[in-house]
Amino acid sequence: MDCIFSAARQRVSPVGTRLFVTTFPCHYCARHIVTAGIDEVQYIEPYPKSQALALHQDSITTESKGWRAPSEGGSQVLFHPFTGVSPRLYRRAFLMTGELKDKRTGAMKIDKPHWISQWVFA
Ligand SMILES: [Zn+2]
Repeated sequence: MDCIFSAARQRVSPVGTRLFVTTFPCHYCARHIVTAGIDEVQYIEPYPKSQALALHQDSITTESKGWRAPSEGGSQVLFHPFTGVSPRLYRRAFLMTGELKDKRTGAMKIDKPHWISQWVFA
């Protein structure tokens, strides 16, 4: 809700936008998301206790198949899980925090991240 109100205070329209949130919205925030004209919400963590879908089933969907954005004539805001690198893993995945070259030889010392081996190379 704070980002919607902050946008309003700064005169930035949320209509037709995509909102990234940490947790599936509660029913109260969902109501504001729908009213603000946001097209899509991507969340990282589910929130099973949320009543958003039950209370706003006419204006929210989790089904992306055949979905059309409200700003393009559709009638439901799409809530779906975020696909990508979460903020917690972003730093490890994309920031070059380690030494990349051997100072003496100049050879690249890039190796696969220790955390990826269990998923990709197992
Ligand atoms: Zn909320």
